[in-house]
Amino acid sequence: MAAIIGHEALRRALRSIAAMEEPPHALLLAGPARTGRTLLSLELAGLLNCEAPDLDDRPCNECRACRLITERNHPDVLHLEPGDSFCRGGGGHQPHPGSRDIRICQVRGLIESVSRYPFEGRFRVLIIEPADRMGLEAANTLLKTLEEPPPATVLILITAAPENLLETIRSRCRTLAVSLVPDDAIAEGLGERGFAPEIAERAAAESRRRPADALAFAEQPDLMDDRGRLLDRCAELAGARASERMTYAGDLAERWRRDRELVLTELDVWETFWESRLREGAGRENGARDALDALRAVADARSDLEAQVVARMALELMLLRFPAVTLPAEGAPAPSRNENEP
Ligand SMILES: [Zn+2]
Ligand SMILES: [Zn+2]
Repeated sequence: MAAIIGHEALRRALRSIAAMEEPPHALLLAGPARTGRTLLSLELAGLLNCEAPDLDDRPCNECRACRLITERNHPDVLHLEPGDSFCRGGGGHQPHPGSRDIRICQVRGLIESVSRYPFEGRFRVLIIEPADRMGLEAANTLLKTLEEPPPATVLILITAAPENLLETIRSRCRTLAVSLVPDDAIAEGLGERGFAPEIAERAAAESRRRPADALAFAEQPDLMDDRGRLLDRCAELAGARASERMTYAGDLAERWRRDRELVLTELDVWETFWESRLREGAGRENGARDALDALRAVADARSDLEAQVVARMALELMLLRFPAVTLPAEGAPAPSRNENEP
């Protein structure tokens, strides 16, 4: 299993779950994306299925079960994601490989694979990610399975928004909170992977405590420079006139049609910008409140985009909701660039 960065307490909890005579049928891994939630799920799958006789040695990373889990090829470790995984199609059913949600046909397909095929490991592990992308119909279908759980099966629901799941589903899960990882733990994890200390520390500092982002930055330091430029652009726009902001919103909406990931990254950068304003604004009148409003506007824009609201509308609204920011005088450091500060 790829080494997980951070999450020591949570990993101990997973170990004690794996040691149980009867592990819970359903777990909810609740916490922000890019923190290692999928790897944690796979670690539990390894703890449950590794062939090492002693629990302390699991996952051994060497046996057949561990290898297949790491390669994401284990027949009993099933991963349901948005798109068309587990969709059986047929019957006039339109294919939906690019779909952004998890549909009822996929949940049915997953349940069917579980009931139809025998399994070779000790436990089946079904991972649904992100679980909040299930619509009401899909969620209700899953609920029926949770009410009569198949034997030796552990369902893992991964979400950053547990409040968006049906209460009836949530109440049947044991919830494990996945937290952000402190910078020093991330830097240490990157050091163990062989990254030079200065790269590891910079990547950790820029990752907003998300190990997956830190790893991407360490592997490709250019990304950090790009992000730095985007942050400067955000600072400029935050102080710009409304007309300029609307032009930017229009450009962003145009890009949404071609490259969604790029726009989502840009929303991340806006979040970073407002988070740093929040830290700086704590002492200033309205500073913290304005930054919090802006962060809410970014979060709303992201969920509007995911819910297929017209991109231009969602993004213009976000820019309109941003408070007017007075920028420091020419030559002074931009508010968001820690590294430029004296
Ligand atoms: Zn093993
Ligand atoms: Zn389908």
